[in-house]
Amino acid sequence: MMNIPLLVSDMLERAEKYFPNKEVISRTQKKIQRLSYKEIGQRTRRLSSALEQLGVQRGEKVGTVAWNHHRHLEAYFGIPGMGGVLHTINLRLSPKHVAYIINHAEDQVLLIDEDVLPLIEAVKGEISNVKAFVIMTDDEEVPETTLSPVYHYERLLETGNPEYEFRKDLDENDAAGLCYTSATTGNPKGVLYNHRGTVLHAMALGLADGCGVSEADVSMPVVPMFHVNAWGMPYGATWFGSTQVMPGPRFTPKLLAELIEEYKVTTTAGVPTIWLGLLKEFETGDFDTSSLRAVVCGGSAAPKGMIKTFEEKYGIPFLHAYGMTETTPMVTVSRLKSYQTDLSNEERLDIRAKQGTPVPLIDLKVVGQNGEVAWDGKEMGELLLRGNWIASEYLDDERSSEAFQDGWLHTGDVVTIDEEGFIKIVDRTKDLIKSGGEWISSVDLENALMAHEDVFEAAVVALPHPEWQERPVACVVLKEGRQTKKEDIYDFLRPQFAKWWLPDEVLFMEEIPKTSVGKFLKRALRKQVEDTLTL
Ligand code: ADP
Repeated sequence: MMNIPLLVSDMLERAEKYFPNKEVISRTQKKIQRLSYKEIGQRTRRLSSALEQLGVQRGEKVGTVAWNHHRHLEAYFGIPGMGGVLHTINLRLSPKHVAYIINHAEDQVLLIDEDVLPLIEAVKGEISNVKAFVIMTDDEEVPETTLSPVYHYERLLETGNPEYEFRKDLDENDAAGLCYTSATTGNPKGVLYNHRGTVLHAMALGLADGCGVSEADVSMPVVPMFHVNAWGMPYGATWFGSTQVMPGPRFTPKLLAELIEEYKVTTTAGVPTIWLGLLKEFETGDFDTSSLRAVVCGGSAAPKGMIKTFEEKYGIPFLHAYGMTETTPMVTVSRLKSYQTDLSNEERLDIRAKQGTPVPLIDLKVVGQNGEVAWDGKEMGELLLRGNWIASEYLDDERSSEAFQDGWLHTGDVVTIDEEGFIKIVDRTKDLIKSGGEWISSVDLENALMAHEDVFEAAVVALPHPEWQERPVACVVLKEGRQTKKEDIYDFLRPQFAKWWLPDEVLFMEEIPKTSVGKFLKRALRKQVEDTLTL
């Protein structure tokens, strides 16, 4: 067989060649614009050539500090297309972590959205390796800034060559991308994505039993492009020639609902907190969402109640998936097997609320104290992964040896696996509640709480206990105007759980603290709960 390197730029070239008139609809700071793949292709080639003129060498990193829009998409292809490495910087990290990752990655150039300039200005004294700051703005001039030297993104593109040939002398094992974990403890850890893994992962997004992304789709990645390549959606959607809708900076649930209606979005992807917000919006407005064929949900457990509401109340198909920064990210997708479709509604929902089975090319095992656990849906163990888009180490980080051992990534996720091979995430190792020598899953309790009709969201954390080691405490945010009492919550949970699983306390809150990518921030919540309960 021929041996042709798998390169990121090949995906864009296919879109240019076969779908030149299909469009990317992009919301930026000041407008919504439509660009064809032909235009995106030319602009991307200009970017690659301009970066070369700025002196970026093969293997060097170019950072992006940007929302989801067409310019970021151009960087997705233009940076690896000239042999550079696209480093997507999470703009919600603290300035300290942002400075750390820019230095650790040795970024040469930064492409920065105008509205996040203050973040980079705040750390400019600490990032001396950066040779050029390129501002992405809709205005004719760059805004006033203390950064130097600065370039206007559009002016810079004008200096580039629209017929630039993407480099084909690259090795498919060369790095194409870099993303740091959001780090709830210690400094963020860097994960390099190579060309090969990025392309294979995008291919899996197109599998019918993956996410089934195709030319006919209108794809809207809500998950930020600064987090694990927006789960690879922009790569897959471009490659397959899908129309793309980029929701841009600081969107609201209302805006998402409007974009879905106006552009007839068929596939979208994001974390559960986004979808909870959207459901709230649906309750107040009247939106036509009939175009949606898949809402892909991952990043934390999709509560069963939420899946049910989306599907039964609004007729929107839901797809639960699992992955992490270290895994590009798609690992498992929860799809019923053909012979499971006759099960009762509840049974089907129970299966689909699990994280699912691995997509092709991903291998997993679940290891407990006595080796691999039984496929019984009960025994718990740590999830181990290997595959062509799973990282084999962190970038220059001595913590690599903890997570990568004997050719497997140790995920730190505790799971069960059932007779059909569906995994179910019980907890992060560090979030499991250890009570009297047994484990309580905070995720199971959270799912149950969020199925209560008055509950908007809920998180459960462990609190130290003198006798039992740890005990669960539930933190509940009620939907607006609801007067639910603690006893109502207990009455709801009691029939579903053993007595010792029931939380020792139910605290009502205005809001649950979240991480930079919208997951419950358990460490901060635990502190908040400790402070409240010791008052
Ligand atoms: P971070 O940068 O915070 O690590 P990641 O997206 O890499 O963000 O987080 C990965 C973790 O998120 C996984 O290890 C797992 O604990 C959790 N996670 C991801 N998807 C799911 C899911 N579908 N259900 C439950 N937990 C999930």
